[in-house]
Amino acid sequence: QIKNATKGGAVIFDAAMEQEAQQRMQTEQALRRAILDKRFCCAFQPKVEMRTQQVRGIEALVRLRDENGEILAPGSFINLAVELGLIDELTHLVLDEIMQSIDLIDETFGADVSISVNVAAKQACNLAFMTSFTAALAATGCPERFIVEVTEDAFVAKSKFQTEILPMLRQIGVRISIDDFGIGYSSLSALADITADEIKIDRSFITDIHQRPRSQSILRAIESISDALGMTVIAEGVETLEEVLYLQTATRIRYAQGYYFSKPVYLDEIKPVDPIRDELRWAIHGRHPEP
Ligand code: C2E
Ligand code: MG
Ligand code: MG
Ligand code: MG
Repeated sequence: QIKNATKGGAVIFDAAMEQEAQQRMQTEQALRRAILDKRFCCAFQPKVEMRTQQVRGIEALVRLRDENGEILAPGSFINLAVELGLIDELTHLVLDEIMQSIDLIDETFGADVSISVNVAAKQACNLAFMTSFTAALAATGCPERFIVEVTEDAFVAKSKFQTEILPMLRQIGVRISIDDFGIGYSSLSALADITADEIKIDRSFITDIHQRPRSQSILRAIESISDALGMTVIAEGVETLEEVLYLQTATRIRYAQGYYFSKPVYLDEIKPVDPIRDELRWAIHGRHPEP
């Protein structure tokens, strides 16, 4: 080993690369098998109207079960699934699972909640996939309940997504949401050109918002642009009461999603959505007395 290494760093580098390739192949195999065996499930995270604490929508977040029954979060496999071309099938499976659970969803969260599905930017720009996914959404019989969440990378001016795909979704009543807004490349130019229904402000702007003046300014700017363009704004990743109170008192943002209200939950482990928290009830009613 040492002998090889002295001949050049390349040897060590190769070994590391080899190991990485090996690791990748294993993950790839595991992912293919998991999808083949349909070893995945959806957790649902509520979108809450802060003032009333009512659930207005839910977002489906996919998880995989590996062969040992361990749950894998999407951060560890979505990019790979996109690269391997497995994501389209997975997305259809997510929609199937939602529809299989629709009665339970309605019972748990209310029959009028919107249902958000994430679509990777690359898929969102793929006309063939989006044509078949739009057909699947139409076939649910309730396309107007669905919101497709896409990160801002897809919202490039004159992209196929904008000119062909977005109109196709809207045609059947599906709404469009810009996910993780503010951390991509195209933020402001994207907003100038697109017609989304909802904009989700990335968690990085929301964390400790009450003590970060620069994030506060950015939030105000996003808020006024969204108002002007008629988009609903939702704050992602709200974790603390301080953040909620800031949003409630210093902004006009009405909707939020985050651990403060609820983590993503599995339908079979749900008790009814948490009752209003006393301290929040107090805080809200202190400011917005009911008529
Ligand atoms: P996302 O769509 O932006 O979803 C929000 C992520 O933040 C979720 O992670 C959620 O569990 C997490 N989160 C929510 N509230 C909080 C909070 O208060 N604090 C913190 N620290 N985190 C919070 P998750 O479930 O691991 O999903 C990660 C990403 O994977 C999603 O980000 C989405 O981009 C992607 N994803 C999930 N399901 C699918 C899917 O079915 N298809 C595709 N293409 N992507 C998916
Ligand atoms: Mg999302
Ligand atoms: Mg997001
Ligand atoms: Mg996010």
